[in-house]
Amino acid sequence: MTTGALPKTVEVRTLAAREVTISGSLPVDRLPRLSGLIVSVSRPFDVVARCFKDEEARYVLELRVCGAVDVACQRCLTPVTVPVDALSCLAVVWTDDQAAQLPIRYEPLVTEAELDLWQLVEEELLLFLPSYSYHGDTECGRQVGLAVQGDDLSVDRRIDGPEKQNPFDILASLKPDDQGLNTK
Ligand SMILES: [Zn+2]
Repeated sequence: MTTGALPKTVEVRTLAAREVTISGSLPVDRLPRLSGLIVSVSRPFDVVARCFKDEEARYVLELRVCGAVDVACQRCLTPVTVPVDALSCLAVVWTDDQAAQLPIRYEPLVTEAELDLWQLVEEELLLFLPSYSYHGDTECGRQVGLAVQGDDLSVDRRIDGPEKQNPFDILASLKPDDQGLNTK
């Protein structure tokens, strides 16, 4: 097993024939398409690529990418952290025709002898991340002061709850409306 920085290009069929697992870290500045979609990343992604041949002699790459990205919350536009744990099982093929023949459990990976592993990780991350991300209700807007208002409202609701109201006050407030209806 290799550790440290993730290699950029690999001969994935050769690795699969030898049952090699590669692991390494990949900083986001190596991933230009992803960089444009996110606010920040605190640490590099951890990548594990397990290469092997399955029982029908297909070359298989099981790819796992872990980490976390900060993206803009679509409600309050401040950063929200999205944990990343993306696992994919890819069968290595030469042509689109071969890709169409694969069992459903595999994603096709159409590649020449050399595979750009960084680009593959980026594509898997783009597939994994949701199109729109939001904070949880109690966290959203905290950084622009909206959560304080939300807390005040919940306190008000408790004070004005039915148990705490004098039933005669409720009757008194209903009576003028009833009279108004009767005179019409
Ligand atoms: Zn938010």
